[in-house]
Amino acid sequence: MKTALVKNLRKIINWLFPEDAVCIGCGKDLFVENKRYCLCDDCQKLITPITTRCLKCGRPTEYGEYCPTCTKEKIYFERNYSCFAYDGLIRKIITAYKFNNKRYYAKYLASFYVDKIIEENIGVDVLTAVPMTKSHQRERGYNQCDFIANEISERLSIPYVKEIYKKSDRTRQLGKSYSERKKNADNAYYTKSNVYEGLRVLVIDDIYTTGSTMNNMAKALLKSGAKSVIGLTLCAVKARNSKEEGSSLNDILLDS
Ligand SMILES: [Zn+2]
Ligand SMILES: [Zn+2]
Repeated sequence: MKTALVKNLRKIINWLFPEDAVCIGCGKDLFVENKRYCLCDDCQKLITPITTRCLKCGRPTEYGEYCPTCTKEKIYFERNYSCFAYDGLIRKIITAYKFNNKRYYAKYLASFYVDKIIEENIGVDVLTAVPMTKSHQRERGYNQCDFIANEISERLSIPYVKEIYKKSDRTRQLGKSYSERKKNADNAYYTKSNVYEGLRVLVIDDIYTTGSTMNNMAKALLKSGAKSVIGLTLCAVKARNSKEEGSSLNDILLDS
């Protein structure tokens, strides 16, 4: 009798507050525990931090202090930090957040970013999120990084300055030569004012793959006068050697 009562009560709570009731990893009922990340104990164990990482881009690496890309290429940001490797459960969660309209995950995922900022003692003046093109955002209905940036800004009282934009170059890429397209991709982001001038800027993104998004964001911010740029992403894909990395063009066109 008591179990049935609890079950029904649970059903009512789930119906009233769907976003606080179940683990975002496995869907198991959560009561009062683990509300900061909305993950049950079992799922929390399935998300592990990066142990060996590149000191520049923060990706998991087995190449020593710096990954092959950071050794060879010009990197505009000071440093990028990632909370987790992009695999297993966190990959499943982030996919649901981005593509299955689980917007309410933002406040839980933001907790991981907040932890990282505190743990690494990241000092910045303002933060911003990687923008989407207008048409891309219309398609998806929301910018997943924007929601997370808002949460972090509120919790840590770091101003969120949304003055960087992404050019809508997808259709204009058609018919262009490879080098023209690459140049377009490298200059995908721009600012309209000098609002970032003299500031240390933290860029929020969800996944760090080859790094071209973060690098191009940093390039645009520095161009507009920012003092320095630090990146922070929830996940990072393991660093590979240069041949395996593919072109930054693929990254910027496919990964957003
Ligand atoms: Zn779970
Ligand atoms: Zn690196």
